[in-house]
Amino acid sequence: MAITAESTSILDLAPAEARVRLSDWAAGLGLPEYRIRQLHPRLWDRPVARWSDATELPAELRARLDREWPLPRLELVTEQQSSDGTRKFLWRLGDGETIESVLIPSGARRTLCISSQAGCALGCVFCATGRMGFRRNLTPFEIVGQIRELVLRNPADRPSNVVFMGMGEPLLNWPAVEVALTILNAADGLGIGARHITVSTVGIVPGMQALAGRPEQFRLAISLHAAIPDRRRPLMPIDKRYPLAAVLEAAKAFRKRITFEYVLIAGRNDSNTDADALIALARRMGALVNLLPLHPGGAPHLAPTPAPRIRAFADRLRSGGIEAVVRKSRGLDISAACGQLRVEHAQHAPPAPPGGEEL
Ligand code: SAH
Ligand code: SF4
Repeated sequence: MAITAESTSILDLAPAEARVRLSDWAAGLGLPEYRIRQLHPRLWDRPVARWSDATELPAELRARLDREWPLPRLELVTEQQSSDGTRKFLWRLGDGETIESVLIPSGARRTLCISSQAGCALGCVFCATGRMGFRRNLTPFEIVGQIRELVLRNPADRPSNVVFMGMGEPLLNWPAVEVALTILNAADGLGIGARHITVSTVGIVPGMQALAGRPEQFRLAISLHAAIPDRRRPLMPIDKRYPLAAVLEAAKAFRKRITFEYVLIAGRNDSNTDADALIALARRMGALVNLLPLHPGGAPHLAPTPAPRIRAFADRLRSGGIEAVVRKSRGLDISAACGQLRVEHAQHAPPAPPGGEEL
């Protein structure tokens, strides 16, 4: 039986499973092999907004596909373009929740920063998403659909790289993220190389273990923000649940080089002592360090580290033998810095009550 709108959609399934479902259905209708092979590419590879747009198929079959295998959509609410070329997309989900994606062009590379949850339960003190609280987990389609919609609108926008650095903590939504990773990477999905897909986490240990168990070499970024536990905990409440030592232990299971994300906040994590602790940790883990200027939108009560101090901090890391990159703050004028999405569109309803999510 076809999947109905109330249950999981065909776009929530890993490509191999979707192929089997569609093929079985089509074979049951007595369709010839060549016809059956025409269906699957329309899910991800050459997506259509609705089956009726797949004009290589007979009209009657298209109508039937639209009835029995409806293709869900994300509704584009607004698109904003920053003066630096960064574009922010606000999507409305079926139940009215809204999420954002940010497309960051850089040379030949187009990195799309995607959301994995509506809101976030973890309340990091510098983060706009954290301030809005947790709303709900996204489904696999709602995650990968952020890319599908871009491609539908303009195939030239297909991202070369995908980072889970939008709204939410991906490793607290592992069942959906696990399928989403497969769709992103599979040759009969979006076909994006695993090394071009980065999962960013504050360090949810069970989720890290699950990710490390995948055969593909997805990249891992750990949102570190402080290498000294007593400085990290006040910034990131999750450190109480999964202390840094346990997070680093879990990170050892990754064969690929990991990245530490480090938002520089004046007086909170930007001293020489902080830099030296970071050097020791990055050296021990062989990690790259991404330094991010604090985006003021997420934290009105915190001050960004001034630019000269950012440079000094980065220089100190480099003299300590650490590969450190200072990320440009992109899309500042449209509040679109990755991981730094504004909350005003979501303020129509209070956060979901605690207990709706598992830590
Ligand atoms: N929850 C995951 C992924 C989403 S947040 C995580 O925290 O890793 C993605 C990135 O955006 C994180 O590295 C986070 O620290 C960063 N970020 C959040 N708020 C920010 C702010 N105000 N300024 C700059 N970067 C911010
Ligand atoms: Fe959640 Fe990441 Fe924001 Fe922390 S930084 S509140 S984990 S989205």
